Amino acid sequence: MTDNLVQLLPDAIANQIAAGEVIQRPASVVKELVENAVDAGADEINLIVKDAGKTLIQVTDNGCGMSETDARMSLERHATSKLRTAEDLFTLHTMGFRGEALASIVAIAQVEMKTRRATDELGTRLVIEGSEVITQEPAAAPPGTSLSVRNLFYNVPARRNFLKSDSVELRHIREEYIRIALAHPSIRFDLHVNDRLDLSLTAGNLRQRIIAVFGKKYRDLLVPIEEATDVLSIGGYVGKPEAARKSKVGQFFFINDRYIRSSYLHHAVTMAYDELLSKDSYPFYVIFLEIDPARIDVNVHPTKQEIKFEDERLIYNYLKATIRHGLGRASIMPTIDFEADNPFSPSRTSLQPNVSPLDSDEALPSKMNRETPHTPSGGSEAGRHASNLRNWEKLYDNLSVEVDTDTGEVLQSRMGREDENDSPPAQGRAPYQLHQRYIVSAIKSGWLLVDQQAAHERILYENFLTTLREKPAASQASLFPQTLDLAHADADLMSSLLPELNQLGFDLEAFGGGSFIVRGIPAELAGRNNELELLEKLLQQYKNNLDLSSDGHERLARTLARTAAIKRGTALDDTEMRSLIDRLFACGQPRVAPNGKRCYVKYELEEVERLFQGQ
Ligand code: ADP
Ligand code: MG
Repeated sequence: MTDNLVQLLPDAIANQIAAGEVIQRPASVVKELVENAVDAGADEINLIVKDAGKTLIQVTDNGCGMSETDARMSLERHATSKLRTAEDLFTLHTMGFRGEALASIVAIAQVEMKTRRATDELGTRLVIEGSEVITQEPAAAPPGTSLSVRNLFYNVPARRNFLKSDSVELRHIREEYIRIALAHPSIRFDLHVNDRLDLSLTAGNLRQRIIAVFGKKYRDLLVPIEEATDVLSIGGYVGKPEAARKSKVGQFFFINDRYIRSSYLHHAVTMAYDELLSKDSYPFYVIFLEIDPARIDVNVHPTKQEIKFEDERLIYNYLKATIRHGLGRASIMPTIDFEADNPFSPSRTSLQPNVSPLDSDEALPSKMNRETPHTPSGGSEAGRHASNLRNWEKLYDNLSVEVDTDTGEVLQSRMGREDENDSPPAQGRAPYQLHQRYIVSAIKSGWLLVDQQAAHERILYENFLTTLREKPAASQASLFPQTLDLAHADADLMSSLLPELNQLGFDLEAFGGGSFIVRGIPAELAGRNNELELLEKLLQQYKNNLDLSSDGHERLARTLARTAAIKRGTALDDTEMRSLIDRLFACGQPRVAPNGKRCYVKYELEEVERLFQGQ
């Protein structure tokens, strides 16, 4: 979305569009409101939901409250008391910082706010519907703030229709609620669902909070972990191996008290348990990392769960060592070779020189070294370091992790990949197209038969996903802007997808009355596709693909890949075929298309040989 668009559109619509980013479902409202209550310094927070939040979400806190002016201001877009300058981003300790949440929520629901500062005699009551202030009046109220959000998405039917069943939406709400409750054990939390007390969490320490949330059996299953250096400290609990489960419940990372998903760090934890866990089980953990905010980029994604940090590997190694140490101390892993796992050995030169505290041997708490039960047999100190280094590098270079994009969990991870051997030699013979459907490409041991459509879908999918999560894509301007006219429901859907589509490299602008101006499409798709047709098919596919995944980005990337991929019956020239194959094998998961269809089949010369020798 261009800045111009926001200026042209009435605020209410701009807010509705922005709301699509911040508020995806009732659980997003819960997250934003409860985090605001935490930021307001409350020590008691009460959450009430009805019909999985579709009818009512109410959050009441005993925090600082707001003056009448602040209450009114808090509903404006980019109104926030938490960020004054760009630099403040780096010293951030509150949860919210964009000032978008309340403005988004009031754009798509019927909201009542009551708030009072302890020092004021009277509080304020505000009623807002679709961004319009209906009532603003002084009112008696207890100190703190209470926000009721009714009939979420009442004015965005496309969104409302996409909501899942009550049980699914309620599960998302509980997840968000539990994440925040785990991060703030000193706050009392009560959750009421349809007038019934669902979960009551009294103030306490982290251990008590975990037991209150997950059950008494965790009393004997928690192993504390704790290590600290100047720039990074790690604390929390990991489960004993008995606490591991076959399903993905009970994995929590918090960075500076902010819940994050990280398949990368999850992998570090799994590696720390090593053979203590069966391959298909997930360890329990609630892990807090404190990192200098100057070293984390917290402004990556509007829902703020995907955080980027520098020196990922360093954190990976440190986390793994810390957990091993914790498990070792709890005598669960009696003979760990810490030395071999020491990621901080001086020979690791790949780290940036200015991260000295972690870079040196001193960074590793000396007790870790002391507890080393034995040194690896044979080889000099230097030789061992060298081989450790090789091992670590091997580990990272071949790290292949498949992630469930909905939950951020690792579905499958392997060291090294079979597909590496499948990759065709870069300067091999020219590929050959078969029936305008498959590409034949020679590899060392035989040849590959690549399904051009499946391969292209995989390539586009990974491309789009990266674009949505990390960086906006280049747009290729059309020669003439075109107008796309849509029926009401489709127009709503289109509006809700606009920010993401524009991030993907479309250049679209809402024109009102179901019309959209199409100025360009992703450079990646230009040439081969008719703009209007592509968009219409995309909407169609999107509506058909609803239950593929609950992750909006993934669904969109999948759908667009599906829509835009070259189809069977398309003739490809040499360059196109080569590029397709190169890009396929540069993918994280080249073997299958996002819909699970194989991208290629491998033929071994040996097998063919055998065929000929047969009869
Ligand atoms: P952000 O949290 O990113 O600042 P929000 O839209 O969530 O943006 O909130 C806007 C502002 O409203 C906050 O910065 C804060 O000043 C005020 N606010 C919101 N909720 C509360 C609350 N429960 N108690 C006190 N102030 C609040
Ligand atoms: Mg907020």
